[in-house]
Amino acid sequence: MKPETRIGYGWDSHEFKRSIPLKIGGVTLPHPKGLGGHSDGDVLLHALTDALLGAVAAPDIGTLFSPSDTRWKGADSAVFLAEALRRVRAAGYAGVNVVSPLLLAAPKIGPHAAAIRVRVAELLEIPPDCVGLKAKTPEGMGTDNAAIAHSVVLLERRVAQKKAAQPPRIKKDKQ
Ligand SMILES: [Zn+2]
Repeated sequence: MKPETRIGYGWDSHEFKRSIPLKIGGVTLPHPKGLGGHSDGDVLLHALTDALLGAVAAPDIGTLFSPSDTRWKGADSAVFLAEALRRVRAAGYAGVNVVSPLLLAAPKIGPHAAAIRVRVAELLEIPPDCVGLKAKTPEGMGTDNAAIAHSVVLLERRVAQKKAAQPPRIKKDKQ
């Protein structure tokens, strides 16, 4: 019997680089620097992807989408998240809620938090009020040129769709 619920945890970090778009949670934010990486560098979607994969004991993001694979160069990280969600469903689960703290010195996430929550909710197919997002500035960590994302997800077992109950067959006595 599969457990009713599962949790997953993932984290990721990327370095800021000049003159590339900044994507966080599937949303492009106005900022002079973006996050470097083989894909679009979306640190939040990567942490979420690993959290989902971990929850169903699937291989991690680096194993499924190797940075040495040219297919993922500049890729939209929503593709990685979609594959993780597919594996979650195949294992018989669906997302309930996520909590994702972000650590970055700049830009301020507050003005964009609603848009990010809506986009993440859309990607995970859960309501926006089930996406917890909190941005903090990393004090004393010496990571001002990096963005760090953590992510915790809760999954619940999906009840297999039962076939509509058939009316009981009544044997008709031969008359
Ligand atoms: Zn990453």
